[in-house]
Amino acid sequence: MPELNNAFEIAQKQLDECAAILQLDKAVHQMLRVPMREIHISIPVRMDDGSIRVFQGYRVQYNNAKGPTKGGIRFHPDKTIDNVRAHAAWMTWKCALLNLPLGGAGGGVMCNPKEMSKPELERLSRMYVDRMSEVLGPDKDIPAPDVYTDPQVMAWMMDEYVKLTQRSQFGVITGKPLAVGGSAGRSDAAAMGAMYTIRQAAEEFGVPLAGATVAVQGFGNAGYFAAHLVSSMLGSKVVAVSDSQGGIHNPNGLDVEAVRKHKAQTGSVVGFQEAESIAHEDLLALEVDVLIPAALENVITGRNACEIKARIVAELANGPTTPEADAILNQKGVHIIPDFLCNAGGVTVSYFEMVQNAYMYYWDKDVVYERLDRKMSASYQAVLNASKRFSIDMRKAAYVVAVLRVIEAMKLRGWVY
Ligand code: GLU
Repeated sequence: MPELNNAFEIAQKQLDECAAILQLDKAVHQMLRVPMREIHISIPVRMDDGSIRVFQGYRVQYNNAKGPTKGGIRFHPDKTIDNVRAHAAWMTWKCALLNLPLGGAGGGVMCNPKEMSKPELERLSRMYVDRMSEVLGPDKDIPAPDVYTDPQVMAWMMDEYVKLTQRSQFGVITGKPLAVGGSAGRSDAAAMGAMYTIRQAAEEFGVPLAGATVAVQGFGNAGYFAAHLVSSMLGSKVVAVSDSQGGIHNPNGLDVEAVRKHKAQTGSVVGFQEAESIAHEDLLALEVDVLIPAALENVITGRNACEIKARIVAELANGPTTPEADAILNQKGVHIIPDFLCNAGGVTVSYFEMVQNAYMYYWDKDVVYERLDRKMSASYQAVLNASKRFSIDMRKAAYVVAVLRVIEAMKLRGWVY
């Protein structure tokens, strides 16, 4: 049988395994298996040359039993509705696992932002909100950045929503720039959250982090901050990083800031002087203590999982490991910090941003980080405990904890019995 690579089928398969462990009632299982609501829109955008292009956009509101739905919007040429569904499902489990009073959602536009000008991106972002405005709101569904969307895109979207509703509801979107209601610490929150979970894992498994070797796949928002924090906060050594063009490797450690500058100048990490180039597959197979996939889905597969030598795989990307690879890694005794635990720092600080917007009172960065650390570390421990109690791997354990919380809310609200 060919390996599953459809992200939503993977998300459903993971849920099915959890349903079997918990012996879930059929109706409950079915409710959790499909999105509650999805919206498909066409978005006409005037391009700089005067022509009109029509883009396809989505928003999937997966489950709102625990509160308004929350999740990022991705701009990507290969974005399919199934990627958005998977993201929305994972956001549901992520918010429940972190004990946030939120449900899960995901959004996307099929476009190539690298080929669009800033004014074109602004018109696209505003039109997305125009077409979606009835289903968005601080008490309905709150978008945020994801792959290839950033604080500027969030500011345009927020502004459009405020204009449409004639009310300064800044909390409709998170991941905004600081000057317009963003939270301190939001931009590196996902990476920071991952560091807190890596610390917990390293302690549990006796891996000393000072001087430990780390490879990071991806050098976008998440990947760059992760590489930066691995060296500046954990005192570990980043020996390899990559981006969509390829990877670079230096066994003595890379100067992450110098790599960032090189990428800002040339558009890629490739060609960085003090390193050798390395293929994506070889980066994954490096002999390192920690591997951080921080790019897209399905990079660790049944084909390459047996090559992985890292002791800890910290999944900063959403869905980087296929179920086939999962089984292989678990058998090899690799400790996986599963995606919706490892990368939950982003949405957790998004939630803090919503709270600050509602109170109109903003916290200092160290307050944000301290509260983030507490939430991430407690969630890691909850997953570890479930993994020991049920004798299951960390991903299944994360599902068990999250799914039970969503079911509790659905039962209390009388949706299921
Ligand atoms: N896109 C991020 C994620 O996958 C953040 C979502 C949010 O902040 O709502 O977790």
